[in-house]
Amino acid sequence: MNRAALHKISYGLYIVTSGQEGKFNGQIANSIVQATSKPATLVICINRENYTHELIRQSRKFTVSILSEAAPMTFIGLFGFKSGRDVDKLKDVKTKSGVTGVPIVLDYSIGFIEAEVEGELDCGTHTVFVGRVVEADLTGEGQPMTYDYYQNVKGGKSPKTAPTFDQEAAATKPKAQSAARYVCSVCGYVYDPEKGDPDNGIAPGTGFEDIPDSWTCPVCGAEKSQFEKEN
Ligand code: FE
Repeated sequence: MNRAALHKISYGLYIVTSGQEGKFNGQIANSIVQATSKPATLVICINRENYTHELIRQSRKFTVSILSEAAPMTFIGLFGFKSGRDVDKLKDVKTKSGVTGVPIVLDYSIGFIEAEVEGELDCGTHTVFVGRVVEADLTGEGQPMTYDYYQNVKGGKSPKTAPTFDQEAAATKPKAQSAARYVCSVCGYVYDPEKGDPDNGIAPGTGFEDIPDSWTCPVCGAEKSQFEKEN
């Protein structure tokens, strides 16, 4: 089997939120398709270990926010590489409550779709949920972020919990480049000394060795020690 063919499937990049009674969470998802038009239904694929999975099971509802290309890696990292069991991801994010009561993420989002779960299919590591669309609207300007754009323009990586994660491809080391760039082993963020990390107080031109140990990955929050020299 040549898994490279699987990498040619196109996807978007979304935030799926769910929950009820004051307990809410959201996560990045790429495996979302509209299944039917009348009535409108959506199919989404969620890792069984994710907190959002638990919340969808309990509440039987979810909302999909469509991310724009403008979404920065730090924002994607908050929803894609951290668990809602550890952090309140929605705390500092602009949301509004939808008709189902699930918060709709508005930051870096160009539209949303609210759904109520009508069925599910156990796919081993993941569950496929089928949702009947109960509300949808446009909320912002811009182009929807595709998974290809996320990976090839933004330099993003699949977390191990993504349905599209490929162990073999992830283990392939990048080609040799100029030394002194460091890669986050968790999310794939690349620290480039030329650019630094000005948002977090690291001036351009700062070598990786000179970054304080308290610094963490701006995308996923991993410790400095989880970085590996790019080779
Ligand atoms: Fe990271």
